[in-house]
Amino acid sequence: MAMVMISCPNTGRDVPTGIETDPSSFESFVAAAPIRCPVCGREHAWSKTNAWLAGSLGCLQETKFASRASRPAR
Ligand SMILES: [Zn+2]
Repeated sequence: MAMVMISCPNTGRDVPTGIETDPSSFESFVAAAPIRCPVCGREHAWSKTNAWLAGSLGCLQETKFASRASRPAR
Protein backbone atom coordinates (compact mmCIF):
# COMPACT_ATOMS: atom_id res chain seq x y z
CA MET A 1 0.00 0.00 0.00
CA ALA A 2 1.18 3.52 -0.74
CA MET A 3 -0.08 6.99 0.11
CA VAL A 4 -1.70 8.97 -2.67
CA MET A 5 0.07 12.32 -2.95
CA ILE A 6 -0.98 15.52 -4.67
CA SER A 7 0.73 18.85 -5.26
CA CYS A 8 -0.88 21.76 -3.39
CA PRO A 9 -1.91 24.34 -6.03
CA ASN A 10 -1.48 27.19 -3.54
CA THR A 11 1.95 26.37 -2.17
CA GLY A 12 3.38 23.86 -4.63
CA ARG A 13 4.15 21.51 -1.76
CA ASP A 14 3.68 17.76 -1.94
CA VAL A 15 0.68 16.84 0.21
CA PRO A 16 -0.44 13.39 1.39
CA THR A 17 -4.17 12.86 0.78
CA GLY A 18 -4.53 10.37 3.63
CA ILE A 19 -5.72 7.81 1.10
CA GLU A 20 -3.69 4.62 0.88
CA THR A 21 -4.01 2.32 -2.08
CA ASP A 22 -2.01 0.02 -4.31
CA PRO A 23 -0.98 0.72 -7.92
CA SER A 24 -3.66 -1.49 -9.45
CA SER A 25 -6.43 0.18 -7.44
CA PHE A 26 -4.95 3.58 -8.20
CA GLU A 27 -5.21 2.76 -11.89
CA SER A 28 -8.96 2.23 -11.53
CA PHE A 29 -9.60 5.52 -9.74
CA VAL A 30 -11.99 7.68 -11.74
CA ALA A 31 -12.85 10.51 -9.37
CA ALA A 32 -12.14 11.18 -5.72
CA ALA A 33 -13.56 13.44 -3.05
CA PRO A 34 -11.69 16.69 -2.40
CA ILE A 35 -9.20 16.50 0.44
CA ARG A 36 -8.47 19.13 3.07
CA CYS A 37 -4.92 20.26 2.55
CA PRO A 38 -2.75 20.10 5.71
CA VAL A 39 -0.39 22.71 4.24
CA CYS A 40 -2.74 25.57 3.34
CA GLY A 41 -5.98 24.41 5.01
CA ARG A 42 -8.06 24.68 1.82
CA GLU A 43 -9.88 21.83 0.09
CA HIS A 44 -8.39 20.62 -3.16
CA ALA A 45 -10.12 18.59 -5.84
CA TRP A 46 -7.76 16.08 -7.38
CA SER A 47 -7.67 13.25 -9.84
CA LYS A 48 -5.14 10.60 -10.65
CA THR A 49 -3.81 12.72 -13.50
CA ASN A 50 -2.26 15.08 -10.95
CA ALA A 51 -1.70 12.59 -8.13
CA TRP A 52 0.94 9.95 -7.54
CA LEU A 53 1.76 7.21 -5.10
CA ALA A 54 4.34 7.88 -2.42
CA GLY A 55 6.75 5.22 -1.25
CA SER A 56 10.05 3.61 -2.11
CA LEU A 57 8.91 2.97 -5.68
CA GLY A 58 7.39 6.43 -6.02
CA CYS A 59 9.83 7.60 -8.66
CA LEU A 60 9.24 4.58 -10.86
CA GLN A 61 5.48 4.80 -10.46
CA GLU A 62 5.47 8.52 -11.06
CA THR A 63 7.30 7.96 -14.34
CA LYS A 64 4.88 5.21 -15.29
CA PHE A 65 1.81 7.31 -14.56
CA ALA A 66 3.27 10.42 -16.14
CA SER A 67 3.66 8.52 -19.40
CA ARG A 68 -0.09 7.85 -19.36
CA ALA A 69 -1.06 11.44 -18.61
CA SER A 70 -2.04 12.10 -22.22
CA ARG A 71 -4.92 9.66 -21.91
CA PRO A 72 -8.22 11.49 -21.18
CA ALA A 73 -9.14 11.10 -17.51
CA ARG A 74 -12.85 10.68 -18.08
ZN1 LIG B 1 -3.11 23.29 -0.28
